[in-house]
Amino acid sequence: TIGMLAIDKDGDIAGACTTSGLSYKMKGRVGDSPIIGSGLFIDNEIGGAVATGMGEEVMKTVGSFLIVELMRNGMSPQEACEEAIRRIVSKNERYKDFQIAYLAMNKAGEVGSYCIHEGFTYMKYQDGENTNVKPGFFYH
Ligand code: ASP
Repeated sequence: TIGMLAIDKDGDIAGACTTSGLSYKMKGRVGDSPIIGSGLFIDNEIGGAVATGMGEEVMKTVGSFLIVELMRNGMSPQEACEEAIRRIVSKNERYKDFQIAYLAMNKAGEVGSYCIHEGFTYMKYQDGENTNVKPGFFYH
């Protein structure tokens, strides 16, 4: 999955995600990416979030919507991504067997990201510069 979040000079937020789905998926499986609120959610008053990884677990917690709602209630993008990952690992003891990563941005352009396992990275483009970011992860 590729997830993207963007904010323009007026503070308007947009997002997108695209995926070929999970490897070896069952025929007809629909992952989280095309489900608004799961793989992607934007509220232009608050911010946006995108997800990659085990779509079933993202869908069960409506992960991207959850992150935007947590930001609405005052969390930073980073705090909201960490809480959304905690929500998943607290409900599924098999979390060591799958990866999920979230990326979020708020109306101020602040960015956060968190994942279950090390290995996810994202690219931040700001003021003409690209930065490769390695977010924190839950399971060491
Ligand atoms: N999230 C996608 C899915 O479950 C898979 C991926 O991130 O590659 O369909």
